[in-house]
Parts: sequence; structure tokens; C-alpha cells
Amino acid sequence: MFERVWIKSKELFEGVIKSDQFPESIAVRDCTLREGEQAADIVFSVEDKLQIAERLESIGIRRIQVGMPGRSEIDKNVFERLKGSKISREAFILAYGLKWKEEIDQAISVGASSVDIVMPCSEYRLKEIMNLSQEEMLRISQEAIIYGKNNGLNVSFVPSDTTRASLKFLQEIGQMAAQSGADFLFVADTVGVATPETMRLIVRSLRDLGVKLGVHAHNDLGLGLANAIAAVQEGAVVVDVCINGLGERAGGVALDEFVVVVQELFCQPLGIKTESLYALSKFVESLTGFSIPPTKPLVGSQAFAHKLDTHIQGVSKYMPAYQGINPQVVGRKIDVILGNLSGPFAIRKKAQDLQISLEEENIDKIVQIVRNSASSLKRALTDAEFIDIASGFMKPQKG
Ligand SMILES: [Zn+2]
Repeated sequence: MFERVWIKSKELFEGVIKSDQFPESIAVRDCTLREGEQAADIVFSVEDKLQIAERLESIGIRRIQVGMPGRSEIDKNVFERLKGSKISREAFILAYGLKWKEEIDQAISVGASSVDIVMPCSEYRLKEIMNLSQEEMLRISQEAIIYGKNNGLNVSFVPSDTTRASLKFLQEIGQMAAQSGADFLFVADTVGVATPETMRLIVRSLRDLGVKLGVHAHNDLGLGLANAIAAVQEGAVVVDVCINGLGERAGGVALDEFVVVVQELFCQPLGIKTESLYALSKFVESLTGFSIPPTKPLVGSQAFAHKLDTHIQGVSKYMPAYQGINPQVVGRKIDVILGNLSGPFAIRKKAQDLQISLEEENIDKIVQIVRNSASSLKRALTDAEFIDIASGFMKPQKG
């Protein structure tokens, strides 16, 4: 076992964390197969989707939003191939389309465990796009929820664009969902404009209506993760996430970030093997060709990179001095970067990592060469470039 997080300043962390209310159990629902594919430039094949589903299950995810079997042959095929799997396989139904009943029937025929009944609720969509009154919205939604329940399905009702509807109308929606027997009601920040306080307000206003709450957040303003956590702290019990934060526009809540924050920082067990998160991210990156930004938390190439010599000295001697989270939590280690700010500690550490023996008297010379090379290249040096430089200064092999 290894130490996982280093947050010992009690008054700043413990008091805050203990005072927050978390539900007894929180389910992480992965939406990579549906929402992720709505990201620009991402197309999954049946095999891609099956491989992702298998890996999600292996790290401990128990709910997957698989897709739209009523609208996509690929998704239909994926559902068929996942029949018999213990994982909850959830279908996305657009209740504002004319064929929602056929879509639900299709979901049943391919063995979906659950359906998301999606219906917009903000004026921006109801009035301006669909020309539907609030009464009509409630009536169609109710009919679809009851149809799903009568057919033995677990039903989540998703009034999309929740965070731009009025609180009064949201109350009516919540009451309708509860009375119709929906199992979950999702607060969907569809265009990513909520703040954590807005999210808290909405969740508080809906949490006592007799239906369990979920949250679907987007990252248009970079607040997706904070909003999802705020919702959970107010009582939401299901959180939608995507691998690498994939999703429409700026994406949504990244699986790895939500899991690590809730499980490691807030100590709320989610039953997810965090040590496999980096490998999962890289797998999806290779599958999609969609590069993880280098500075993305936890799984970006530079997320655990140290460049300043004092920091490298620090992490080598006592990692908590320059890290709040142990990279091993997500299956990674510290990276030593050789660049224009490198000094002797960086050179020694990099040589050690690469199992190169250097004469101590040559370290300063190597520092100068590394700095000059990085400055003229205007970037960090690769391991191969360092080996090339170091090869002129290696200790002669004994024997
Ligand atoms: Zn979404």
C-alpha cells in the first residue's frame, strides 16, 4: 500500500469535508458511448464500444449509457452483444421525437436495463424550437415514463436544459416524475452555464419530492466537475461522467477527475479501481485519436511532470512536499522533465530512472548542455536526446 493523498492541513480540509453531506451511496454512470460520441470528430465502431464497456466494467463501473438503439444500428448491435452482462445497460430515448414509443420498444427488445426519457424543459427549447407548452411537455413526459415503467424498465427522466428552466416549473416536473413512478430525475446542465450554487439550489428544491436525483453536467465554462460535486453534496446519487471528459462542445465531467476527487479527497467509496484510470484514458485516446490535453488533470502527459530543479530535489526526497496526490493513485509516476531550468538533481534523477551511470564531476557540464539544447529547441528534451548527451559522459563499465 502507498499513501494516496497529502492534505494534512486539518483546518482547511477536514472540517470542510466532514461538514458536507454525501449520500450513502453514489453511482457513477459512464456516458462515453453516447455523450462521448457526440463530441466533434469521434466515431465509435461496435467493437470500440464493446471494448470500452468491458474495460469500464473491469474497473468497477456498474452503469453505462450505451446509446440510442431506436436510432442507431450500431447501438442496437452493441446492446445485443451486451445482453447477459451484469452491468446496467441504459438506452437514450428522445421523448420529443414522434417515435418515442417505438424507441422504447426497441430498447426493450435489445435487452436495455434502463431508459433515459429525455425532454427539454427550458423556454429556449420548448417555446423557441419545439413550440410546445409546459402542459404538453408534462403530458408527453408522463406518458413516456409510465409506458417505460409499465414495460418493466428502470426509468430515468431527464428534463434537458434543467438549469435554465424556472424553479416553479422544475417543481411541477419533479412532482410529475415522482407521481409517474420515475426511478431517477436528472438535473441536466445541458449548456454548461450553472454554477455550484445554482446546482445546489436546484437539487435542494427537488430532493424531497420522492424521486432519486442524478446530475449531468457540461464543461462549457469549466465548471462541470464542481457542479457535479455540488449536486452530490446536496443529495444527487447518480453522476454522469465520460472518459477523458469527452462530450458535446467542451465536454463534460471526466470520469477520472470525479472518481479521484470523491473517492480520494472526500473519502466517499465508489468501488472504482483508480489505479486503472490512466490506462483506460490512454486506451480511449488511442481508439479515438482524440488527444488528451497535456495539462489535463491526472491523465494529461504533464499532470505529474516536474521541471524546476528544487521541485525535482523535493519530490525525490519527500514526494508530499510537491504533490498533493500520489500519481500511483491513477497508475502513474512522477515525470522528470529536462529543460531550460534543469539542474544537477534533474540530471541525476533522470540518469537514475534510465539506469545510466554518470561521473559526478561531469554533472555540471551535462546541466549546461541540457539547458542550452532545450533553449535552442524551445522545448523539453526527450529521453532519447538526453541519452545521446549523456553517452559522452557515462562511467566506464567495470569488468
Ligand atoms: Zn450532455
